Amino acid sequence: MRGMTENKLLLSMVVAILAGGVAGFVWGEAMASVAWLGELFLTTLKMLIVPLVAASIITGVAGLGDVRKLGRMGGYSVAYYACTTLIAVSIGLLMANLWQPGVGVDLASGAPAPKPAVGDVSITDLILSLVHPNIVDAAANMKLLPIIVFCILLAAALSTLGEKGRPVIGFFEGLNEAMMRIVEWIMVFAPLGVFALIASKLGSAGGGEAFVAQLAGLAKYALAVISGLLAHAAVLCAILMLIARRSIVEYLRHMGTALMTAFSTASSSATLPLTLEGVKLAGVDEKARRFVLPLGATINMDGTALYEAVAVLFIAQAYGIDLTFGQQMLVLLTATMAAIGAAGIPEAGLVTMVIVLEAVGLPLDGIGLILAIDWFLDRCRTTINVFGDSVGAAVVGRLTQAKQ
Ligand code: ASP
Repeated sequence: MRGMTENKLLLSMVVAILAGGVAGFVWGEAMASVAWLGELFLTTLKMLIVPLVAASIITGVAGLGDVRKLGRMGGYSVAYYACTTLIAVSIGLLMANLWQPGVGVDLASGAPAPKPAVGDVSITDLILSLVHPNIVDAAANMKLLPIIVFCILLAAALSTLGEKGRPVIGFFEGLNEAMMRIVEWIMVFAPLGVFALIASKLGSAGGGEAFVAQLAGLAKYALAVISGLLAHAAVLCAILMLIARRSIVEYLRHMGTALMTAFSTASSSATLPLTLEGVKLAGVDEKARRFVLPLGATINMDGTALYEAVAVLFIAQAYGIDLTFGQQMLVLLTATMAAIGAAGIPEAGLVTMVIVLEAVGLPLDGIGLILAIDWFLDRCRTTINVFGDSVGAAVVGRLTQAKQ
């Protein structure tokens, strides 16, 4: 998957996204007939997630060879996640204060808010979600965080066993290579899958007319979120250039397929196989990418954090509630937590926003105001989530190599 082939795939992806958009826009609900193709692509990607996360983390951590190096890599990763997430929320707050998207919004225009799942939202719940009593059950239910914790422990233990640990590590090496080979095969199918996902989603959302109406109804809010996401993308590009010392154009070329898949699937977890492939093509250090990407897809969500800040301020403004500077700082902290807690699946951020709304005492029904356009903004923020993870892998790869 080098040179020409990679460029061809990238071009097909761009054409597929555009064609999917046009088809969904023009033919509306009729495009539901291709939904199964999108589902096929998505489900095939999801099928790889659990074995890929396990093999990637185990080989990444075991490859470090020394538990102190794991500490360094973990430290850099967490520092990167924390800094970029805080920058993202700050940009979100700034945009919401600049655009004032909620001022003058008609409160009656909202859809009824979904029943929010209030479980799993406090700090202690977040910590407890790191472990699971039954690892097979965690795998069966795609609870990635406990799988990651288990695999880090397993790999650390295996690397202390010397000869006895080697065959087990070798097994996961082979599994990892095989999974990546399957990813290469699936990539050939990616343009068709992306086309079907975009066309059927836009179609089932009512086609072009309904989309334009949804967008117009929440135009300022959508603009605040999208301009914030673009500003954050620029920050990530600067980090890529200045800290990871990489060419932005080259990196984006390798990551293009993954980013467009993120946009089409609205799921960082489902995109993970392609993110791993993209970062591999970009030549990021093997151990860093195997460790940083699965963890990032699960807990590092810059786009989600930024969107939560804008959405919460939008809701406050719509209800005519002025949030003080102190309350906005509370939004900063809780939106960071909410983004960590959000799973890498469609519209997870909408659910964890409950943490932020409750922290500043806003009505949960406010979520109903932003529902209409969330399916679209979800795609935009997921793209930034995946880009943030890939930049993280490049940064951690460079910093850990520099220390060797
Ligand atoms: N869909 C996003 C993701 O998978 C999470 C969110 O809802 O913000 O990254």
